[in-house]
Amino acid sequence: MTTTPTQILDKNGKQTTVHKKGDVVITSPRAKRAPTVKITPGESEYELIDGEVVSVPNSVTDFRGVTTNEYGDRCFVSVGWENKDGSEYLIALTPCCNASGKGWYDDEAEMGLTVCRKCMNEVSDIHGDEVRPGAYTPLAAA
Ligand SMILES: [Zn+2]
Repeated sequence: MTTTPTQILDKNGKQTTVHKKGDVVITSPRAKRAPTVKITPGESEYELIDGEVVSVPNSVTDFRGVTTNEYGDRCFVSVGWENKDGSEYLIALTPCCNASGKGWYDDEAEMGLTVCRKCMNEVSDIHGDEVRPGAYTPLAAA
């Protein structure tokens, strides 16, 4: 703490100098700054409605929340596209690449699959579907 010299009159009417406490002079610029949140470069932090803070790569655009697929992978929810009525069609990004999923017909297995649009590996069906309200943990209200 730094004290400030102040001229006062003492009880005998003589001028004297005191070092007045209480006038706090902040000398370090760090003293007033809020604690620094550590963020990995290329990531941003978002708070979910349940209070959890998640780090999301900046490559994920239009981040809206987090969901979990049936394999237990946590997936980022983002906007697939905007519907005609202005609402958002939300998708769960793939855990492998943070990409969208797409339908794929496997000729050998003679069945339709959902694959990652980027690496083409098979992913959970949730990545080929709309993520509806209640099926994910949304961002905290701003
Ligand atoms: Zn992938």
